[in-house]
Amino acid sequence: MKKCDYCAKEISYFEQYCCDECQKKAIEFYDMREKFTKVFSVINAVCVFAIPIGLFVLSFTAEIGFTMIALATTILGTTVMFLPFPVENMISSMKIKKAVKVTRIIGLALLMLGVILIIADILMFILK
Ligand SMILES: [Zn+2]
Repeated sequence: MKKCDYCAKEISYFEQYCCDECQKKAIEFYDMREKFTKVFSVINAVCVFAIPIGLFVLSFTAEIGFTMIALATTILGTTVMFLPFPVENMISSMKIKKAVKVTRIIGLALLMLGVILIIADILMFILK
């Protein structure tokens, strides 16, 4: 059975979307992805790169390394939450609506982890 490219509802073989609303939302998603894909990739690359560097720095300057990891995780989580662009694989298997939701949840989890790390970082600084 073919499914709506946006909400994954079952549709006939002649359609791509189940309704105009889904088509509108799918176009909005692709427009937004096109507009922000560069910003998203740059922030992602910087943050993903900063985490292993932070781990490396951690081995000789614990405070700076830890702060780097905490900030990179928080920024990465925030970016993924506000610009939830799932990979193509996810879009084709879950369709846009669910893939975006799952990506937002991953972003939120990263953001919460980042916030916990920042709080731990501040506590370590205060209690030292
Ligand atoms: Zn639909």
